[in-house]
Amino acid sequence: MKCERYRFDGSKPCDLRKLPCDSKADRVEKAEILTRTESNLKEMASLHDALYAEGREGVIFVLQALDAAGKDSTVKHVMGGLNPQGVVVHSFKQPTSEELQHDFLWRVNKALPPRGSVAIFNRSYYEDVLVVQLHDLQKSYQMARRVLEEDKKKFFRKRYRQIRDYEEYLYDNSYRVVKIFLHLSKEEQKKRFLERIEKPSKNWKFSAADLRERALFDKYQDLYQEVINETASEYSPWYVLPADQKWYTRYLVSEIVVKTLKSCHPAYPRLSEEAQAALAQCKKQLKDD
Ligand code: AMP
Ligand code: MG
Repeated sequence: MKCERYRFDGSKPCDLRKLPCDSKADRVEKAEILTRTESNLKEMASLHDALYAEGREGVIFVLQALDAAGKDSTVKHVMGGLNPQGVVVHSFKQPTSEELQHDFLWRVNKALPPRGSVAIFNRSYYEDVLVVQLHDLQKSYQMARRVLEEDKKKFFRKRYRQIRDYEEYLYDNSYRVVKIFLHLSKEEQKKRFLERIEKPSKNWKFSAADLRERALFDKYQDLYQEVINETASEYSPWYVLPADQKWYTRYLVSEIVVKTLKSCHPAYPRLSEEAQAALAQCKKQLKDD
C-alpha cells in the first residue's frame, strides 16, 4: 500500500521537510490511480455498511492542514462514498464563547459519533496546540492564574500529553482515531490562493487572514512536525500525505480509510439460533399468507 510510507506511529521520527508534497517519488500513473480510487470507494462503502450494522467500533478521521491544502474537497470526494446514515462530518472553527468557558476537549467529546459510525473532523483539537500555540491565544483565556502563569512550553507539553491520553482513552473505549496531515507546498498554496481570488465561484473560500497565516508557513511546518512527533502512536497514527495533487491525495486517503475499516474486522451481526428460528417462522407465515 502506498499510504504505508506516510504512516507515523511513533516508531520513527517524522521530518516534514524530507517528505514529499507531490506524487513524483511514488512514480504513479494518474489514470491507474483514478481507477484504483474508484475501486477503493466501493470497498469502503461495503466495509462501512458492515461496520454500521455491527455498531461495535467508531472511527474518527482527523483532517489537519494549512489553508487550501484540500481538506474540504477530501471530505467531499472521498467520504462521499460512504452511507450518509453512518457518517458525521464536524468542522472545528474558532471556539465560541461558550466553548471557551470549558476545557478544550469539551466540544470534541460532544462531537464524538456513536459506535458504528465514521466521523470526519475537519480540523480538530489539534488546533488547540497549533494556532493557539503559534498566536499565544491561551494568554487571553479565562483560566486560573496557576495555569496561565505556567511556562508556555510546559503548558503545551501538558496538552500533548492530554491529547495522547485522550486518544488512548478513545481507543480503549472502542474508537479508532486516525490523523491525516495534508502536506502542501508553499508554491502550490500560492497557486490555489490566486485561483480563489481570481475565480468568482471560489472567492468565498478566501479571506485576507489566510495571507497572515501564510506568512507563518515555516513556523507552522515546524510546529506541525513537533505535534506529529509528540502524538503519533500505534493505536492512533498520523499520515503525512503529499497534497499538491488532489487526485493523489484522494487516492491515499481512500487507501487509509479502507485499511482502517478493515482493521476493525466489521462483520454483519449473526442472529442467535432462536432468532433464526423465529425468522424462519415469519417466512413460512408470509408464504402461506
Ligand atoms: P476554516 O477551516 O477555513 O473554516 O477556518 C476555521 C478557522 O478556525 C481556522 O483559522 C482555524 O485555525 C480556527 N480554529 C479552529 N479551532 C480553533 C481553536 N481551538 N482556537 C482558535 N482557532 C481555531
Ligand atoms: Mg480557511
